[in-house]
Amino acid sequence: MADDPRDFRAPIDLHTHSSVSDGTESPDELVRAAAGAGLGTVALTDHDSTAGWADAAEAASDVGITFIPGMELSTRYGWKSVHMLAYLFDPADEPLMAELERIREGRRSRAETMVARLGLDYDLSWDDVVAHTAPGATVGRPHIADALVSRGVVPDRSAAFATLLHPRGGYYEPIYAPTPLDGVRLIRGAGGVPVLAHPATRGRDGIIQDFYLQRLIDAGLAGLELDHRENTDDGKVALRDLADRYGLVLTGSSDYHGAGKPNRLGEYTTSPEALERILAESAYLARALELGAEAISGLRRDASADRRLGGR
Ligand code: AMP
Ligand code: ZN
Ligand code: FE
Ligand code: FE
Repeated sequence: MADDPRDFRAPIDLHTHSSVSDGTESPDELVRAAAGAGLGTVALTDHDSTAGWADAAEAASDVGITFIPGMELSTRYGWKSVHMLAYLFDPADEPLMAELERIREGRRSRAETMVARLGLDYDLSWDDVVAHTAPGATVGRPHIADALVSRGVVPDRSAAFATLLHPRGGYYEPIYAPTPLDGVRLIRGAGGVPVLAHPATRGRDGIIQDFYLQRLIDAGLAGLELDHRENTDDGKVALRDLADRYGLVLTGSSDYHGAGKPNRLGEYTTSPEALERILAESAYLARALELGAEAISGLRRDASADRRLGGR
């Protein structure tokens, strides 16, 4: 049964975004695109939201591929933004959900601040950004980028990120986010499995310091995303060493954003052995399995769906 994640098939892509955050396809469209691209398993990992899970699970069941519920949690380590993938956690866990609310609310006011600054120099208003954001979606710079593109200020998202939306572009505002350590604790507390996303985009010297990585591992960090188009070659060598040394799982993924980024579904994939380990580490999945098949397919439509959709 495709609804049981343990029956997964390869190829496996564990990092994608839908319009619930800053991807351009709905969760349903994304899962159908994943099946069309030949994937056997896809995880939806929208930024700071689980609102796409129900639709994605339903579509996966329709097209006969395995859906892994996930998320990319925003965290901050000093001035550095650190993305943390989270898999198979309880989408009704109170402490985690409360923190996600705070992050999404902070993202919204941060985006308003950036748009107010940009509006002094360019023909751009908050309504333009709202027009490019799905209702209830986690707002990010990509939505501001889309508004700038439609106003003709920049040609595409990448140009916006390279200039006006860059941290040193003159309009940037950081987001509110918990520390990576609190992120790991929250994810584990919700029965989920934390994996550091694209940890080597700034090369081997940009990887989180060893002493702090060890604290994350002690708190339950399970793995590192190794194969990702933005990890550098020397960074990947270092990530393999770290995984060997600390017994971490290594994953590979596309970080697909639909038309919003050049990344293609399945351009990097995760081994079945790595996914087995992630499934085995999920306390939430273990609990759901104990409760029977109903609870697993309950990832699709259940009482908590309304709550996690925030009344949308
Ligand atoms: P934010 O979280 O609001 O600061 O925005 C960061 C998000 O924008 C990340 O999730 C990236 O996937 C996305 N992003 C970063 N650079 C680009 C780019 N050049 N083109 C499109 N999306 C990007
Ligand atoms: Zn993104
Ligand atoms: Fe990321
Ligand atoms: Fe991502």
